Amino acid sequence: MESCSRADLELGSLLGEGSLGKVYRTRDKRTNEEYAVKVLEKRYILQQQKQASVVQERRLLSALNHPNIVQLYSSFQDDRFLYFVLELAKGGDLGDQIKRVGRLPYELAQFYAAEVVKVLEYLREKQIAHRDLKPENLLIGDNGHLKLIDFDGAKCFAPALQGPPSSSSSRSSSSRETGQASPGQPRSGDSSMTSSPVVPSRRPPAVRKPRSRANTWVGTAQYVSPEMLEDNDIASYPSDLWALGCILYQMLAGCPPFKAETEFLTFQRICRCDIAFPNDMPAVARDLVSQLLVVDPQRRLGSKDMDRLKSHPFFDGVEFDTLPAQTPPKIE
Ligand code: ATP
Repeated sequence: MESCSRADLELGSLLGEGSLGKVYRTRDKRTNEEYAVKVLEKRYILQQQKQASVVQERRLLSALNHPNIVQLYSSFQDDRFLYFVLELAKGGDLGDQIKRVGRLPYELAQFYAAEVVKVLEYLREKQIAHRDLKPENLLIGDNGHLKLIDFDGAKCFAPALQGPPSSSSSRSSSSRETGQASPGQPRSGDSSMTSSPVVPSRRPPAVRKPRSRANTWVGTAQYVSPEMLEDNDIASYPSDLWALGCILYQMLAGCPPFKAETEFLTFQRICRCDIAFPNDMPAVARDLVSQLLVVDPQRRLGSKDMDRLKSHPFFDGVEFDTLPAQTPPKIE
């Protein structure tokens, strides 16, 4: 996509809403191509002190290039809003798909789990932990393949992808910015998006009931790992493996493994790793879930070596290298 401005886009229906803004279906008037545009209101970003996460999301999306990660084509701003022009995923999200059909067919669950493994492998190479992996953040693209979104809570360990130190903080900007920044090199003039540290410096206390997303805790109750409940700052790649275990369980059982009446009870179940498997969940899937949902992050399958995860018998028959070219199994 060429660099673009607000005037080039015709905003259509609302696709979804996040804590800082809204995502619309949109059309580039110049080419007629369709995109999703995420419109973030600067006022809310400042109110919620989310400058760092917004800057980080843009920086990471600019740097990442994977068939299962939504692509950022352009970003720009005006006086009130920041705009991220993204690849459009028209098929809704995995959470909705599971709700619609109850449980996914085994082959489709296997296919999607394999795609998530490939994304996690790629993110590990880039030294990024997503930390909010959940069915609602896995969109379904045109061709039925998964597209991961929402990198504002991610943790990046690669110095080249981290932002400048916070000391140069500057919040005012009315300049218009078009095009896409190179990884780690936000553009000059884009001052409201360049200044904060990637990882929040304030540590949440080691309490069992975590803070809400509006503060420093990232993640979503059902998929949050025990170590994230303990101390969000230590959460890293294995937290994504925990979330994968939860998602796999949900695809096959129809509900997340630690579902309880309240968030607090959910957290208690997570800390105890209190899971009950439906009788009809195949043993090989149960085994994989059990090896991912392990309280000690270092003992989760794949925490040291993703190849061990890929060679679990649950993935027998899966050709990981050609997944993007394969047609996902259909829901009958
Ligand atoms: P959060 O508060 O969870 O951080 P956010 O402000 O970062 O949210 P997103 O999670 O990126 O916003 O997007 C909000 C919703 O918009 C998503 O749940 C999804 O329904 C929709 N959405 C986001 N990106 C796309 C896309 N590329 N194509 C289609 N729909 C999208």
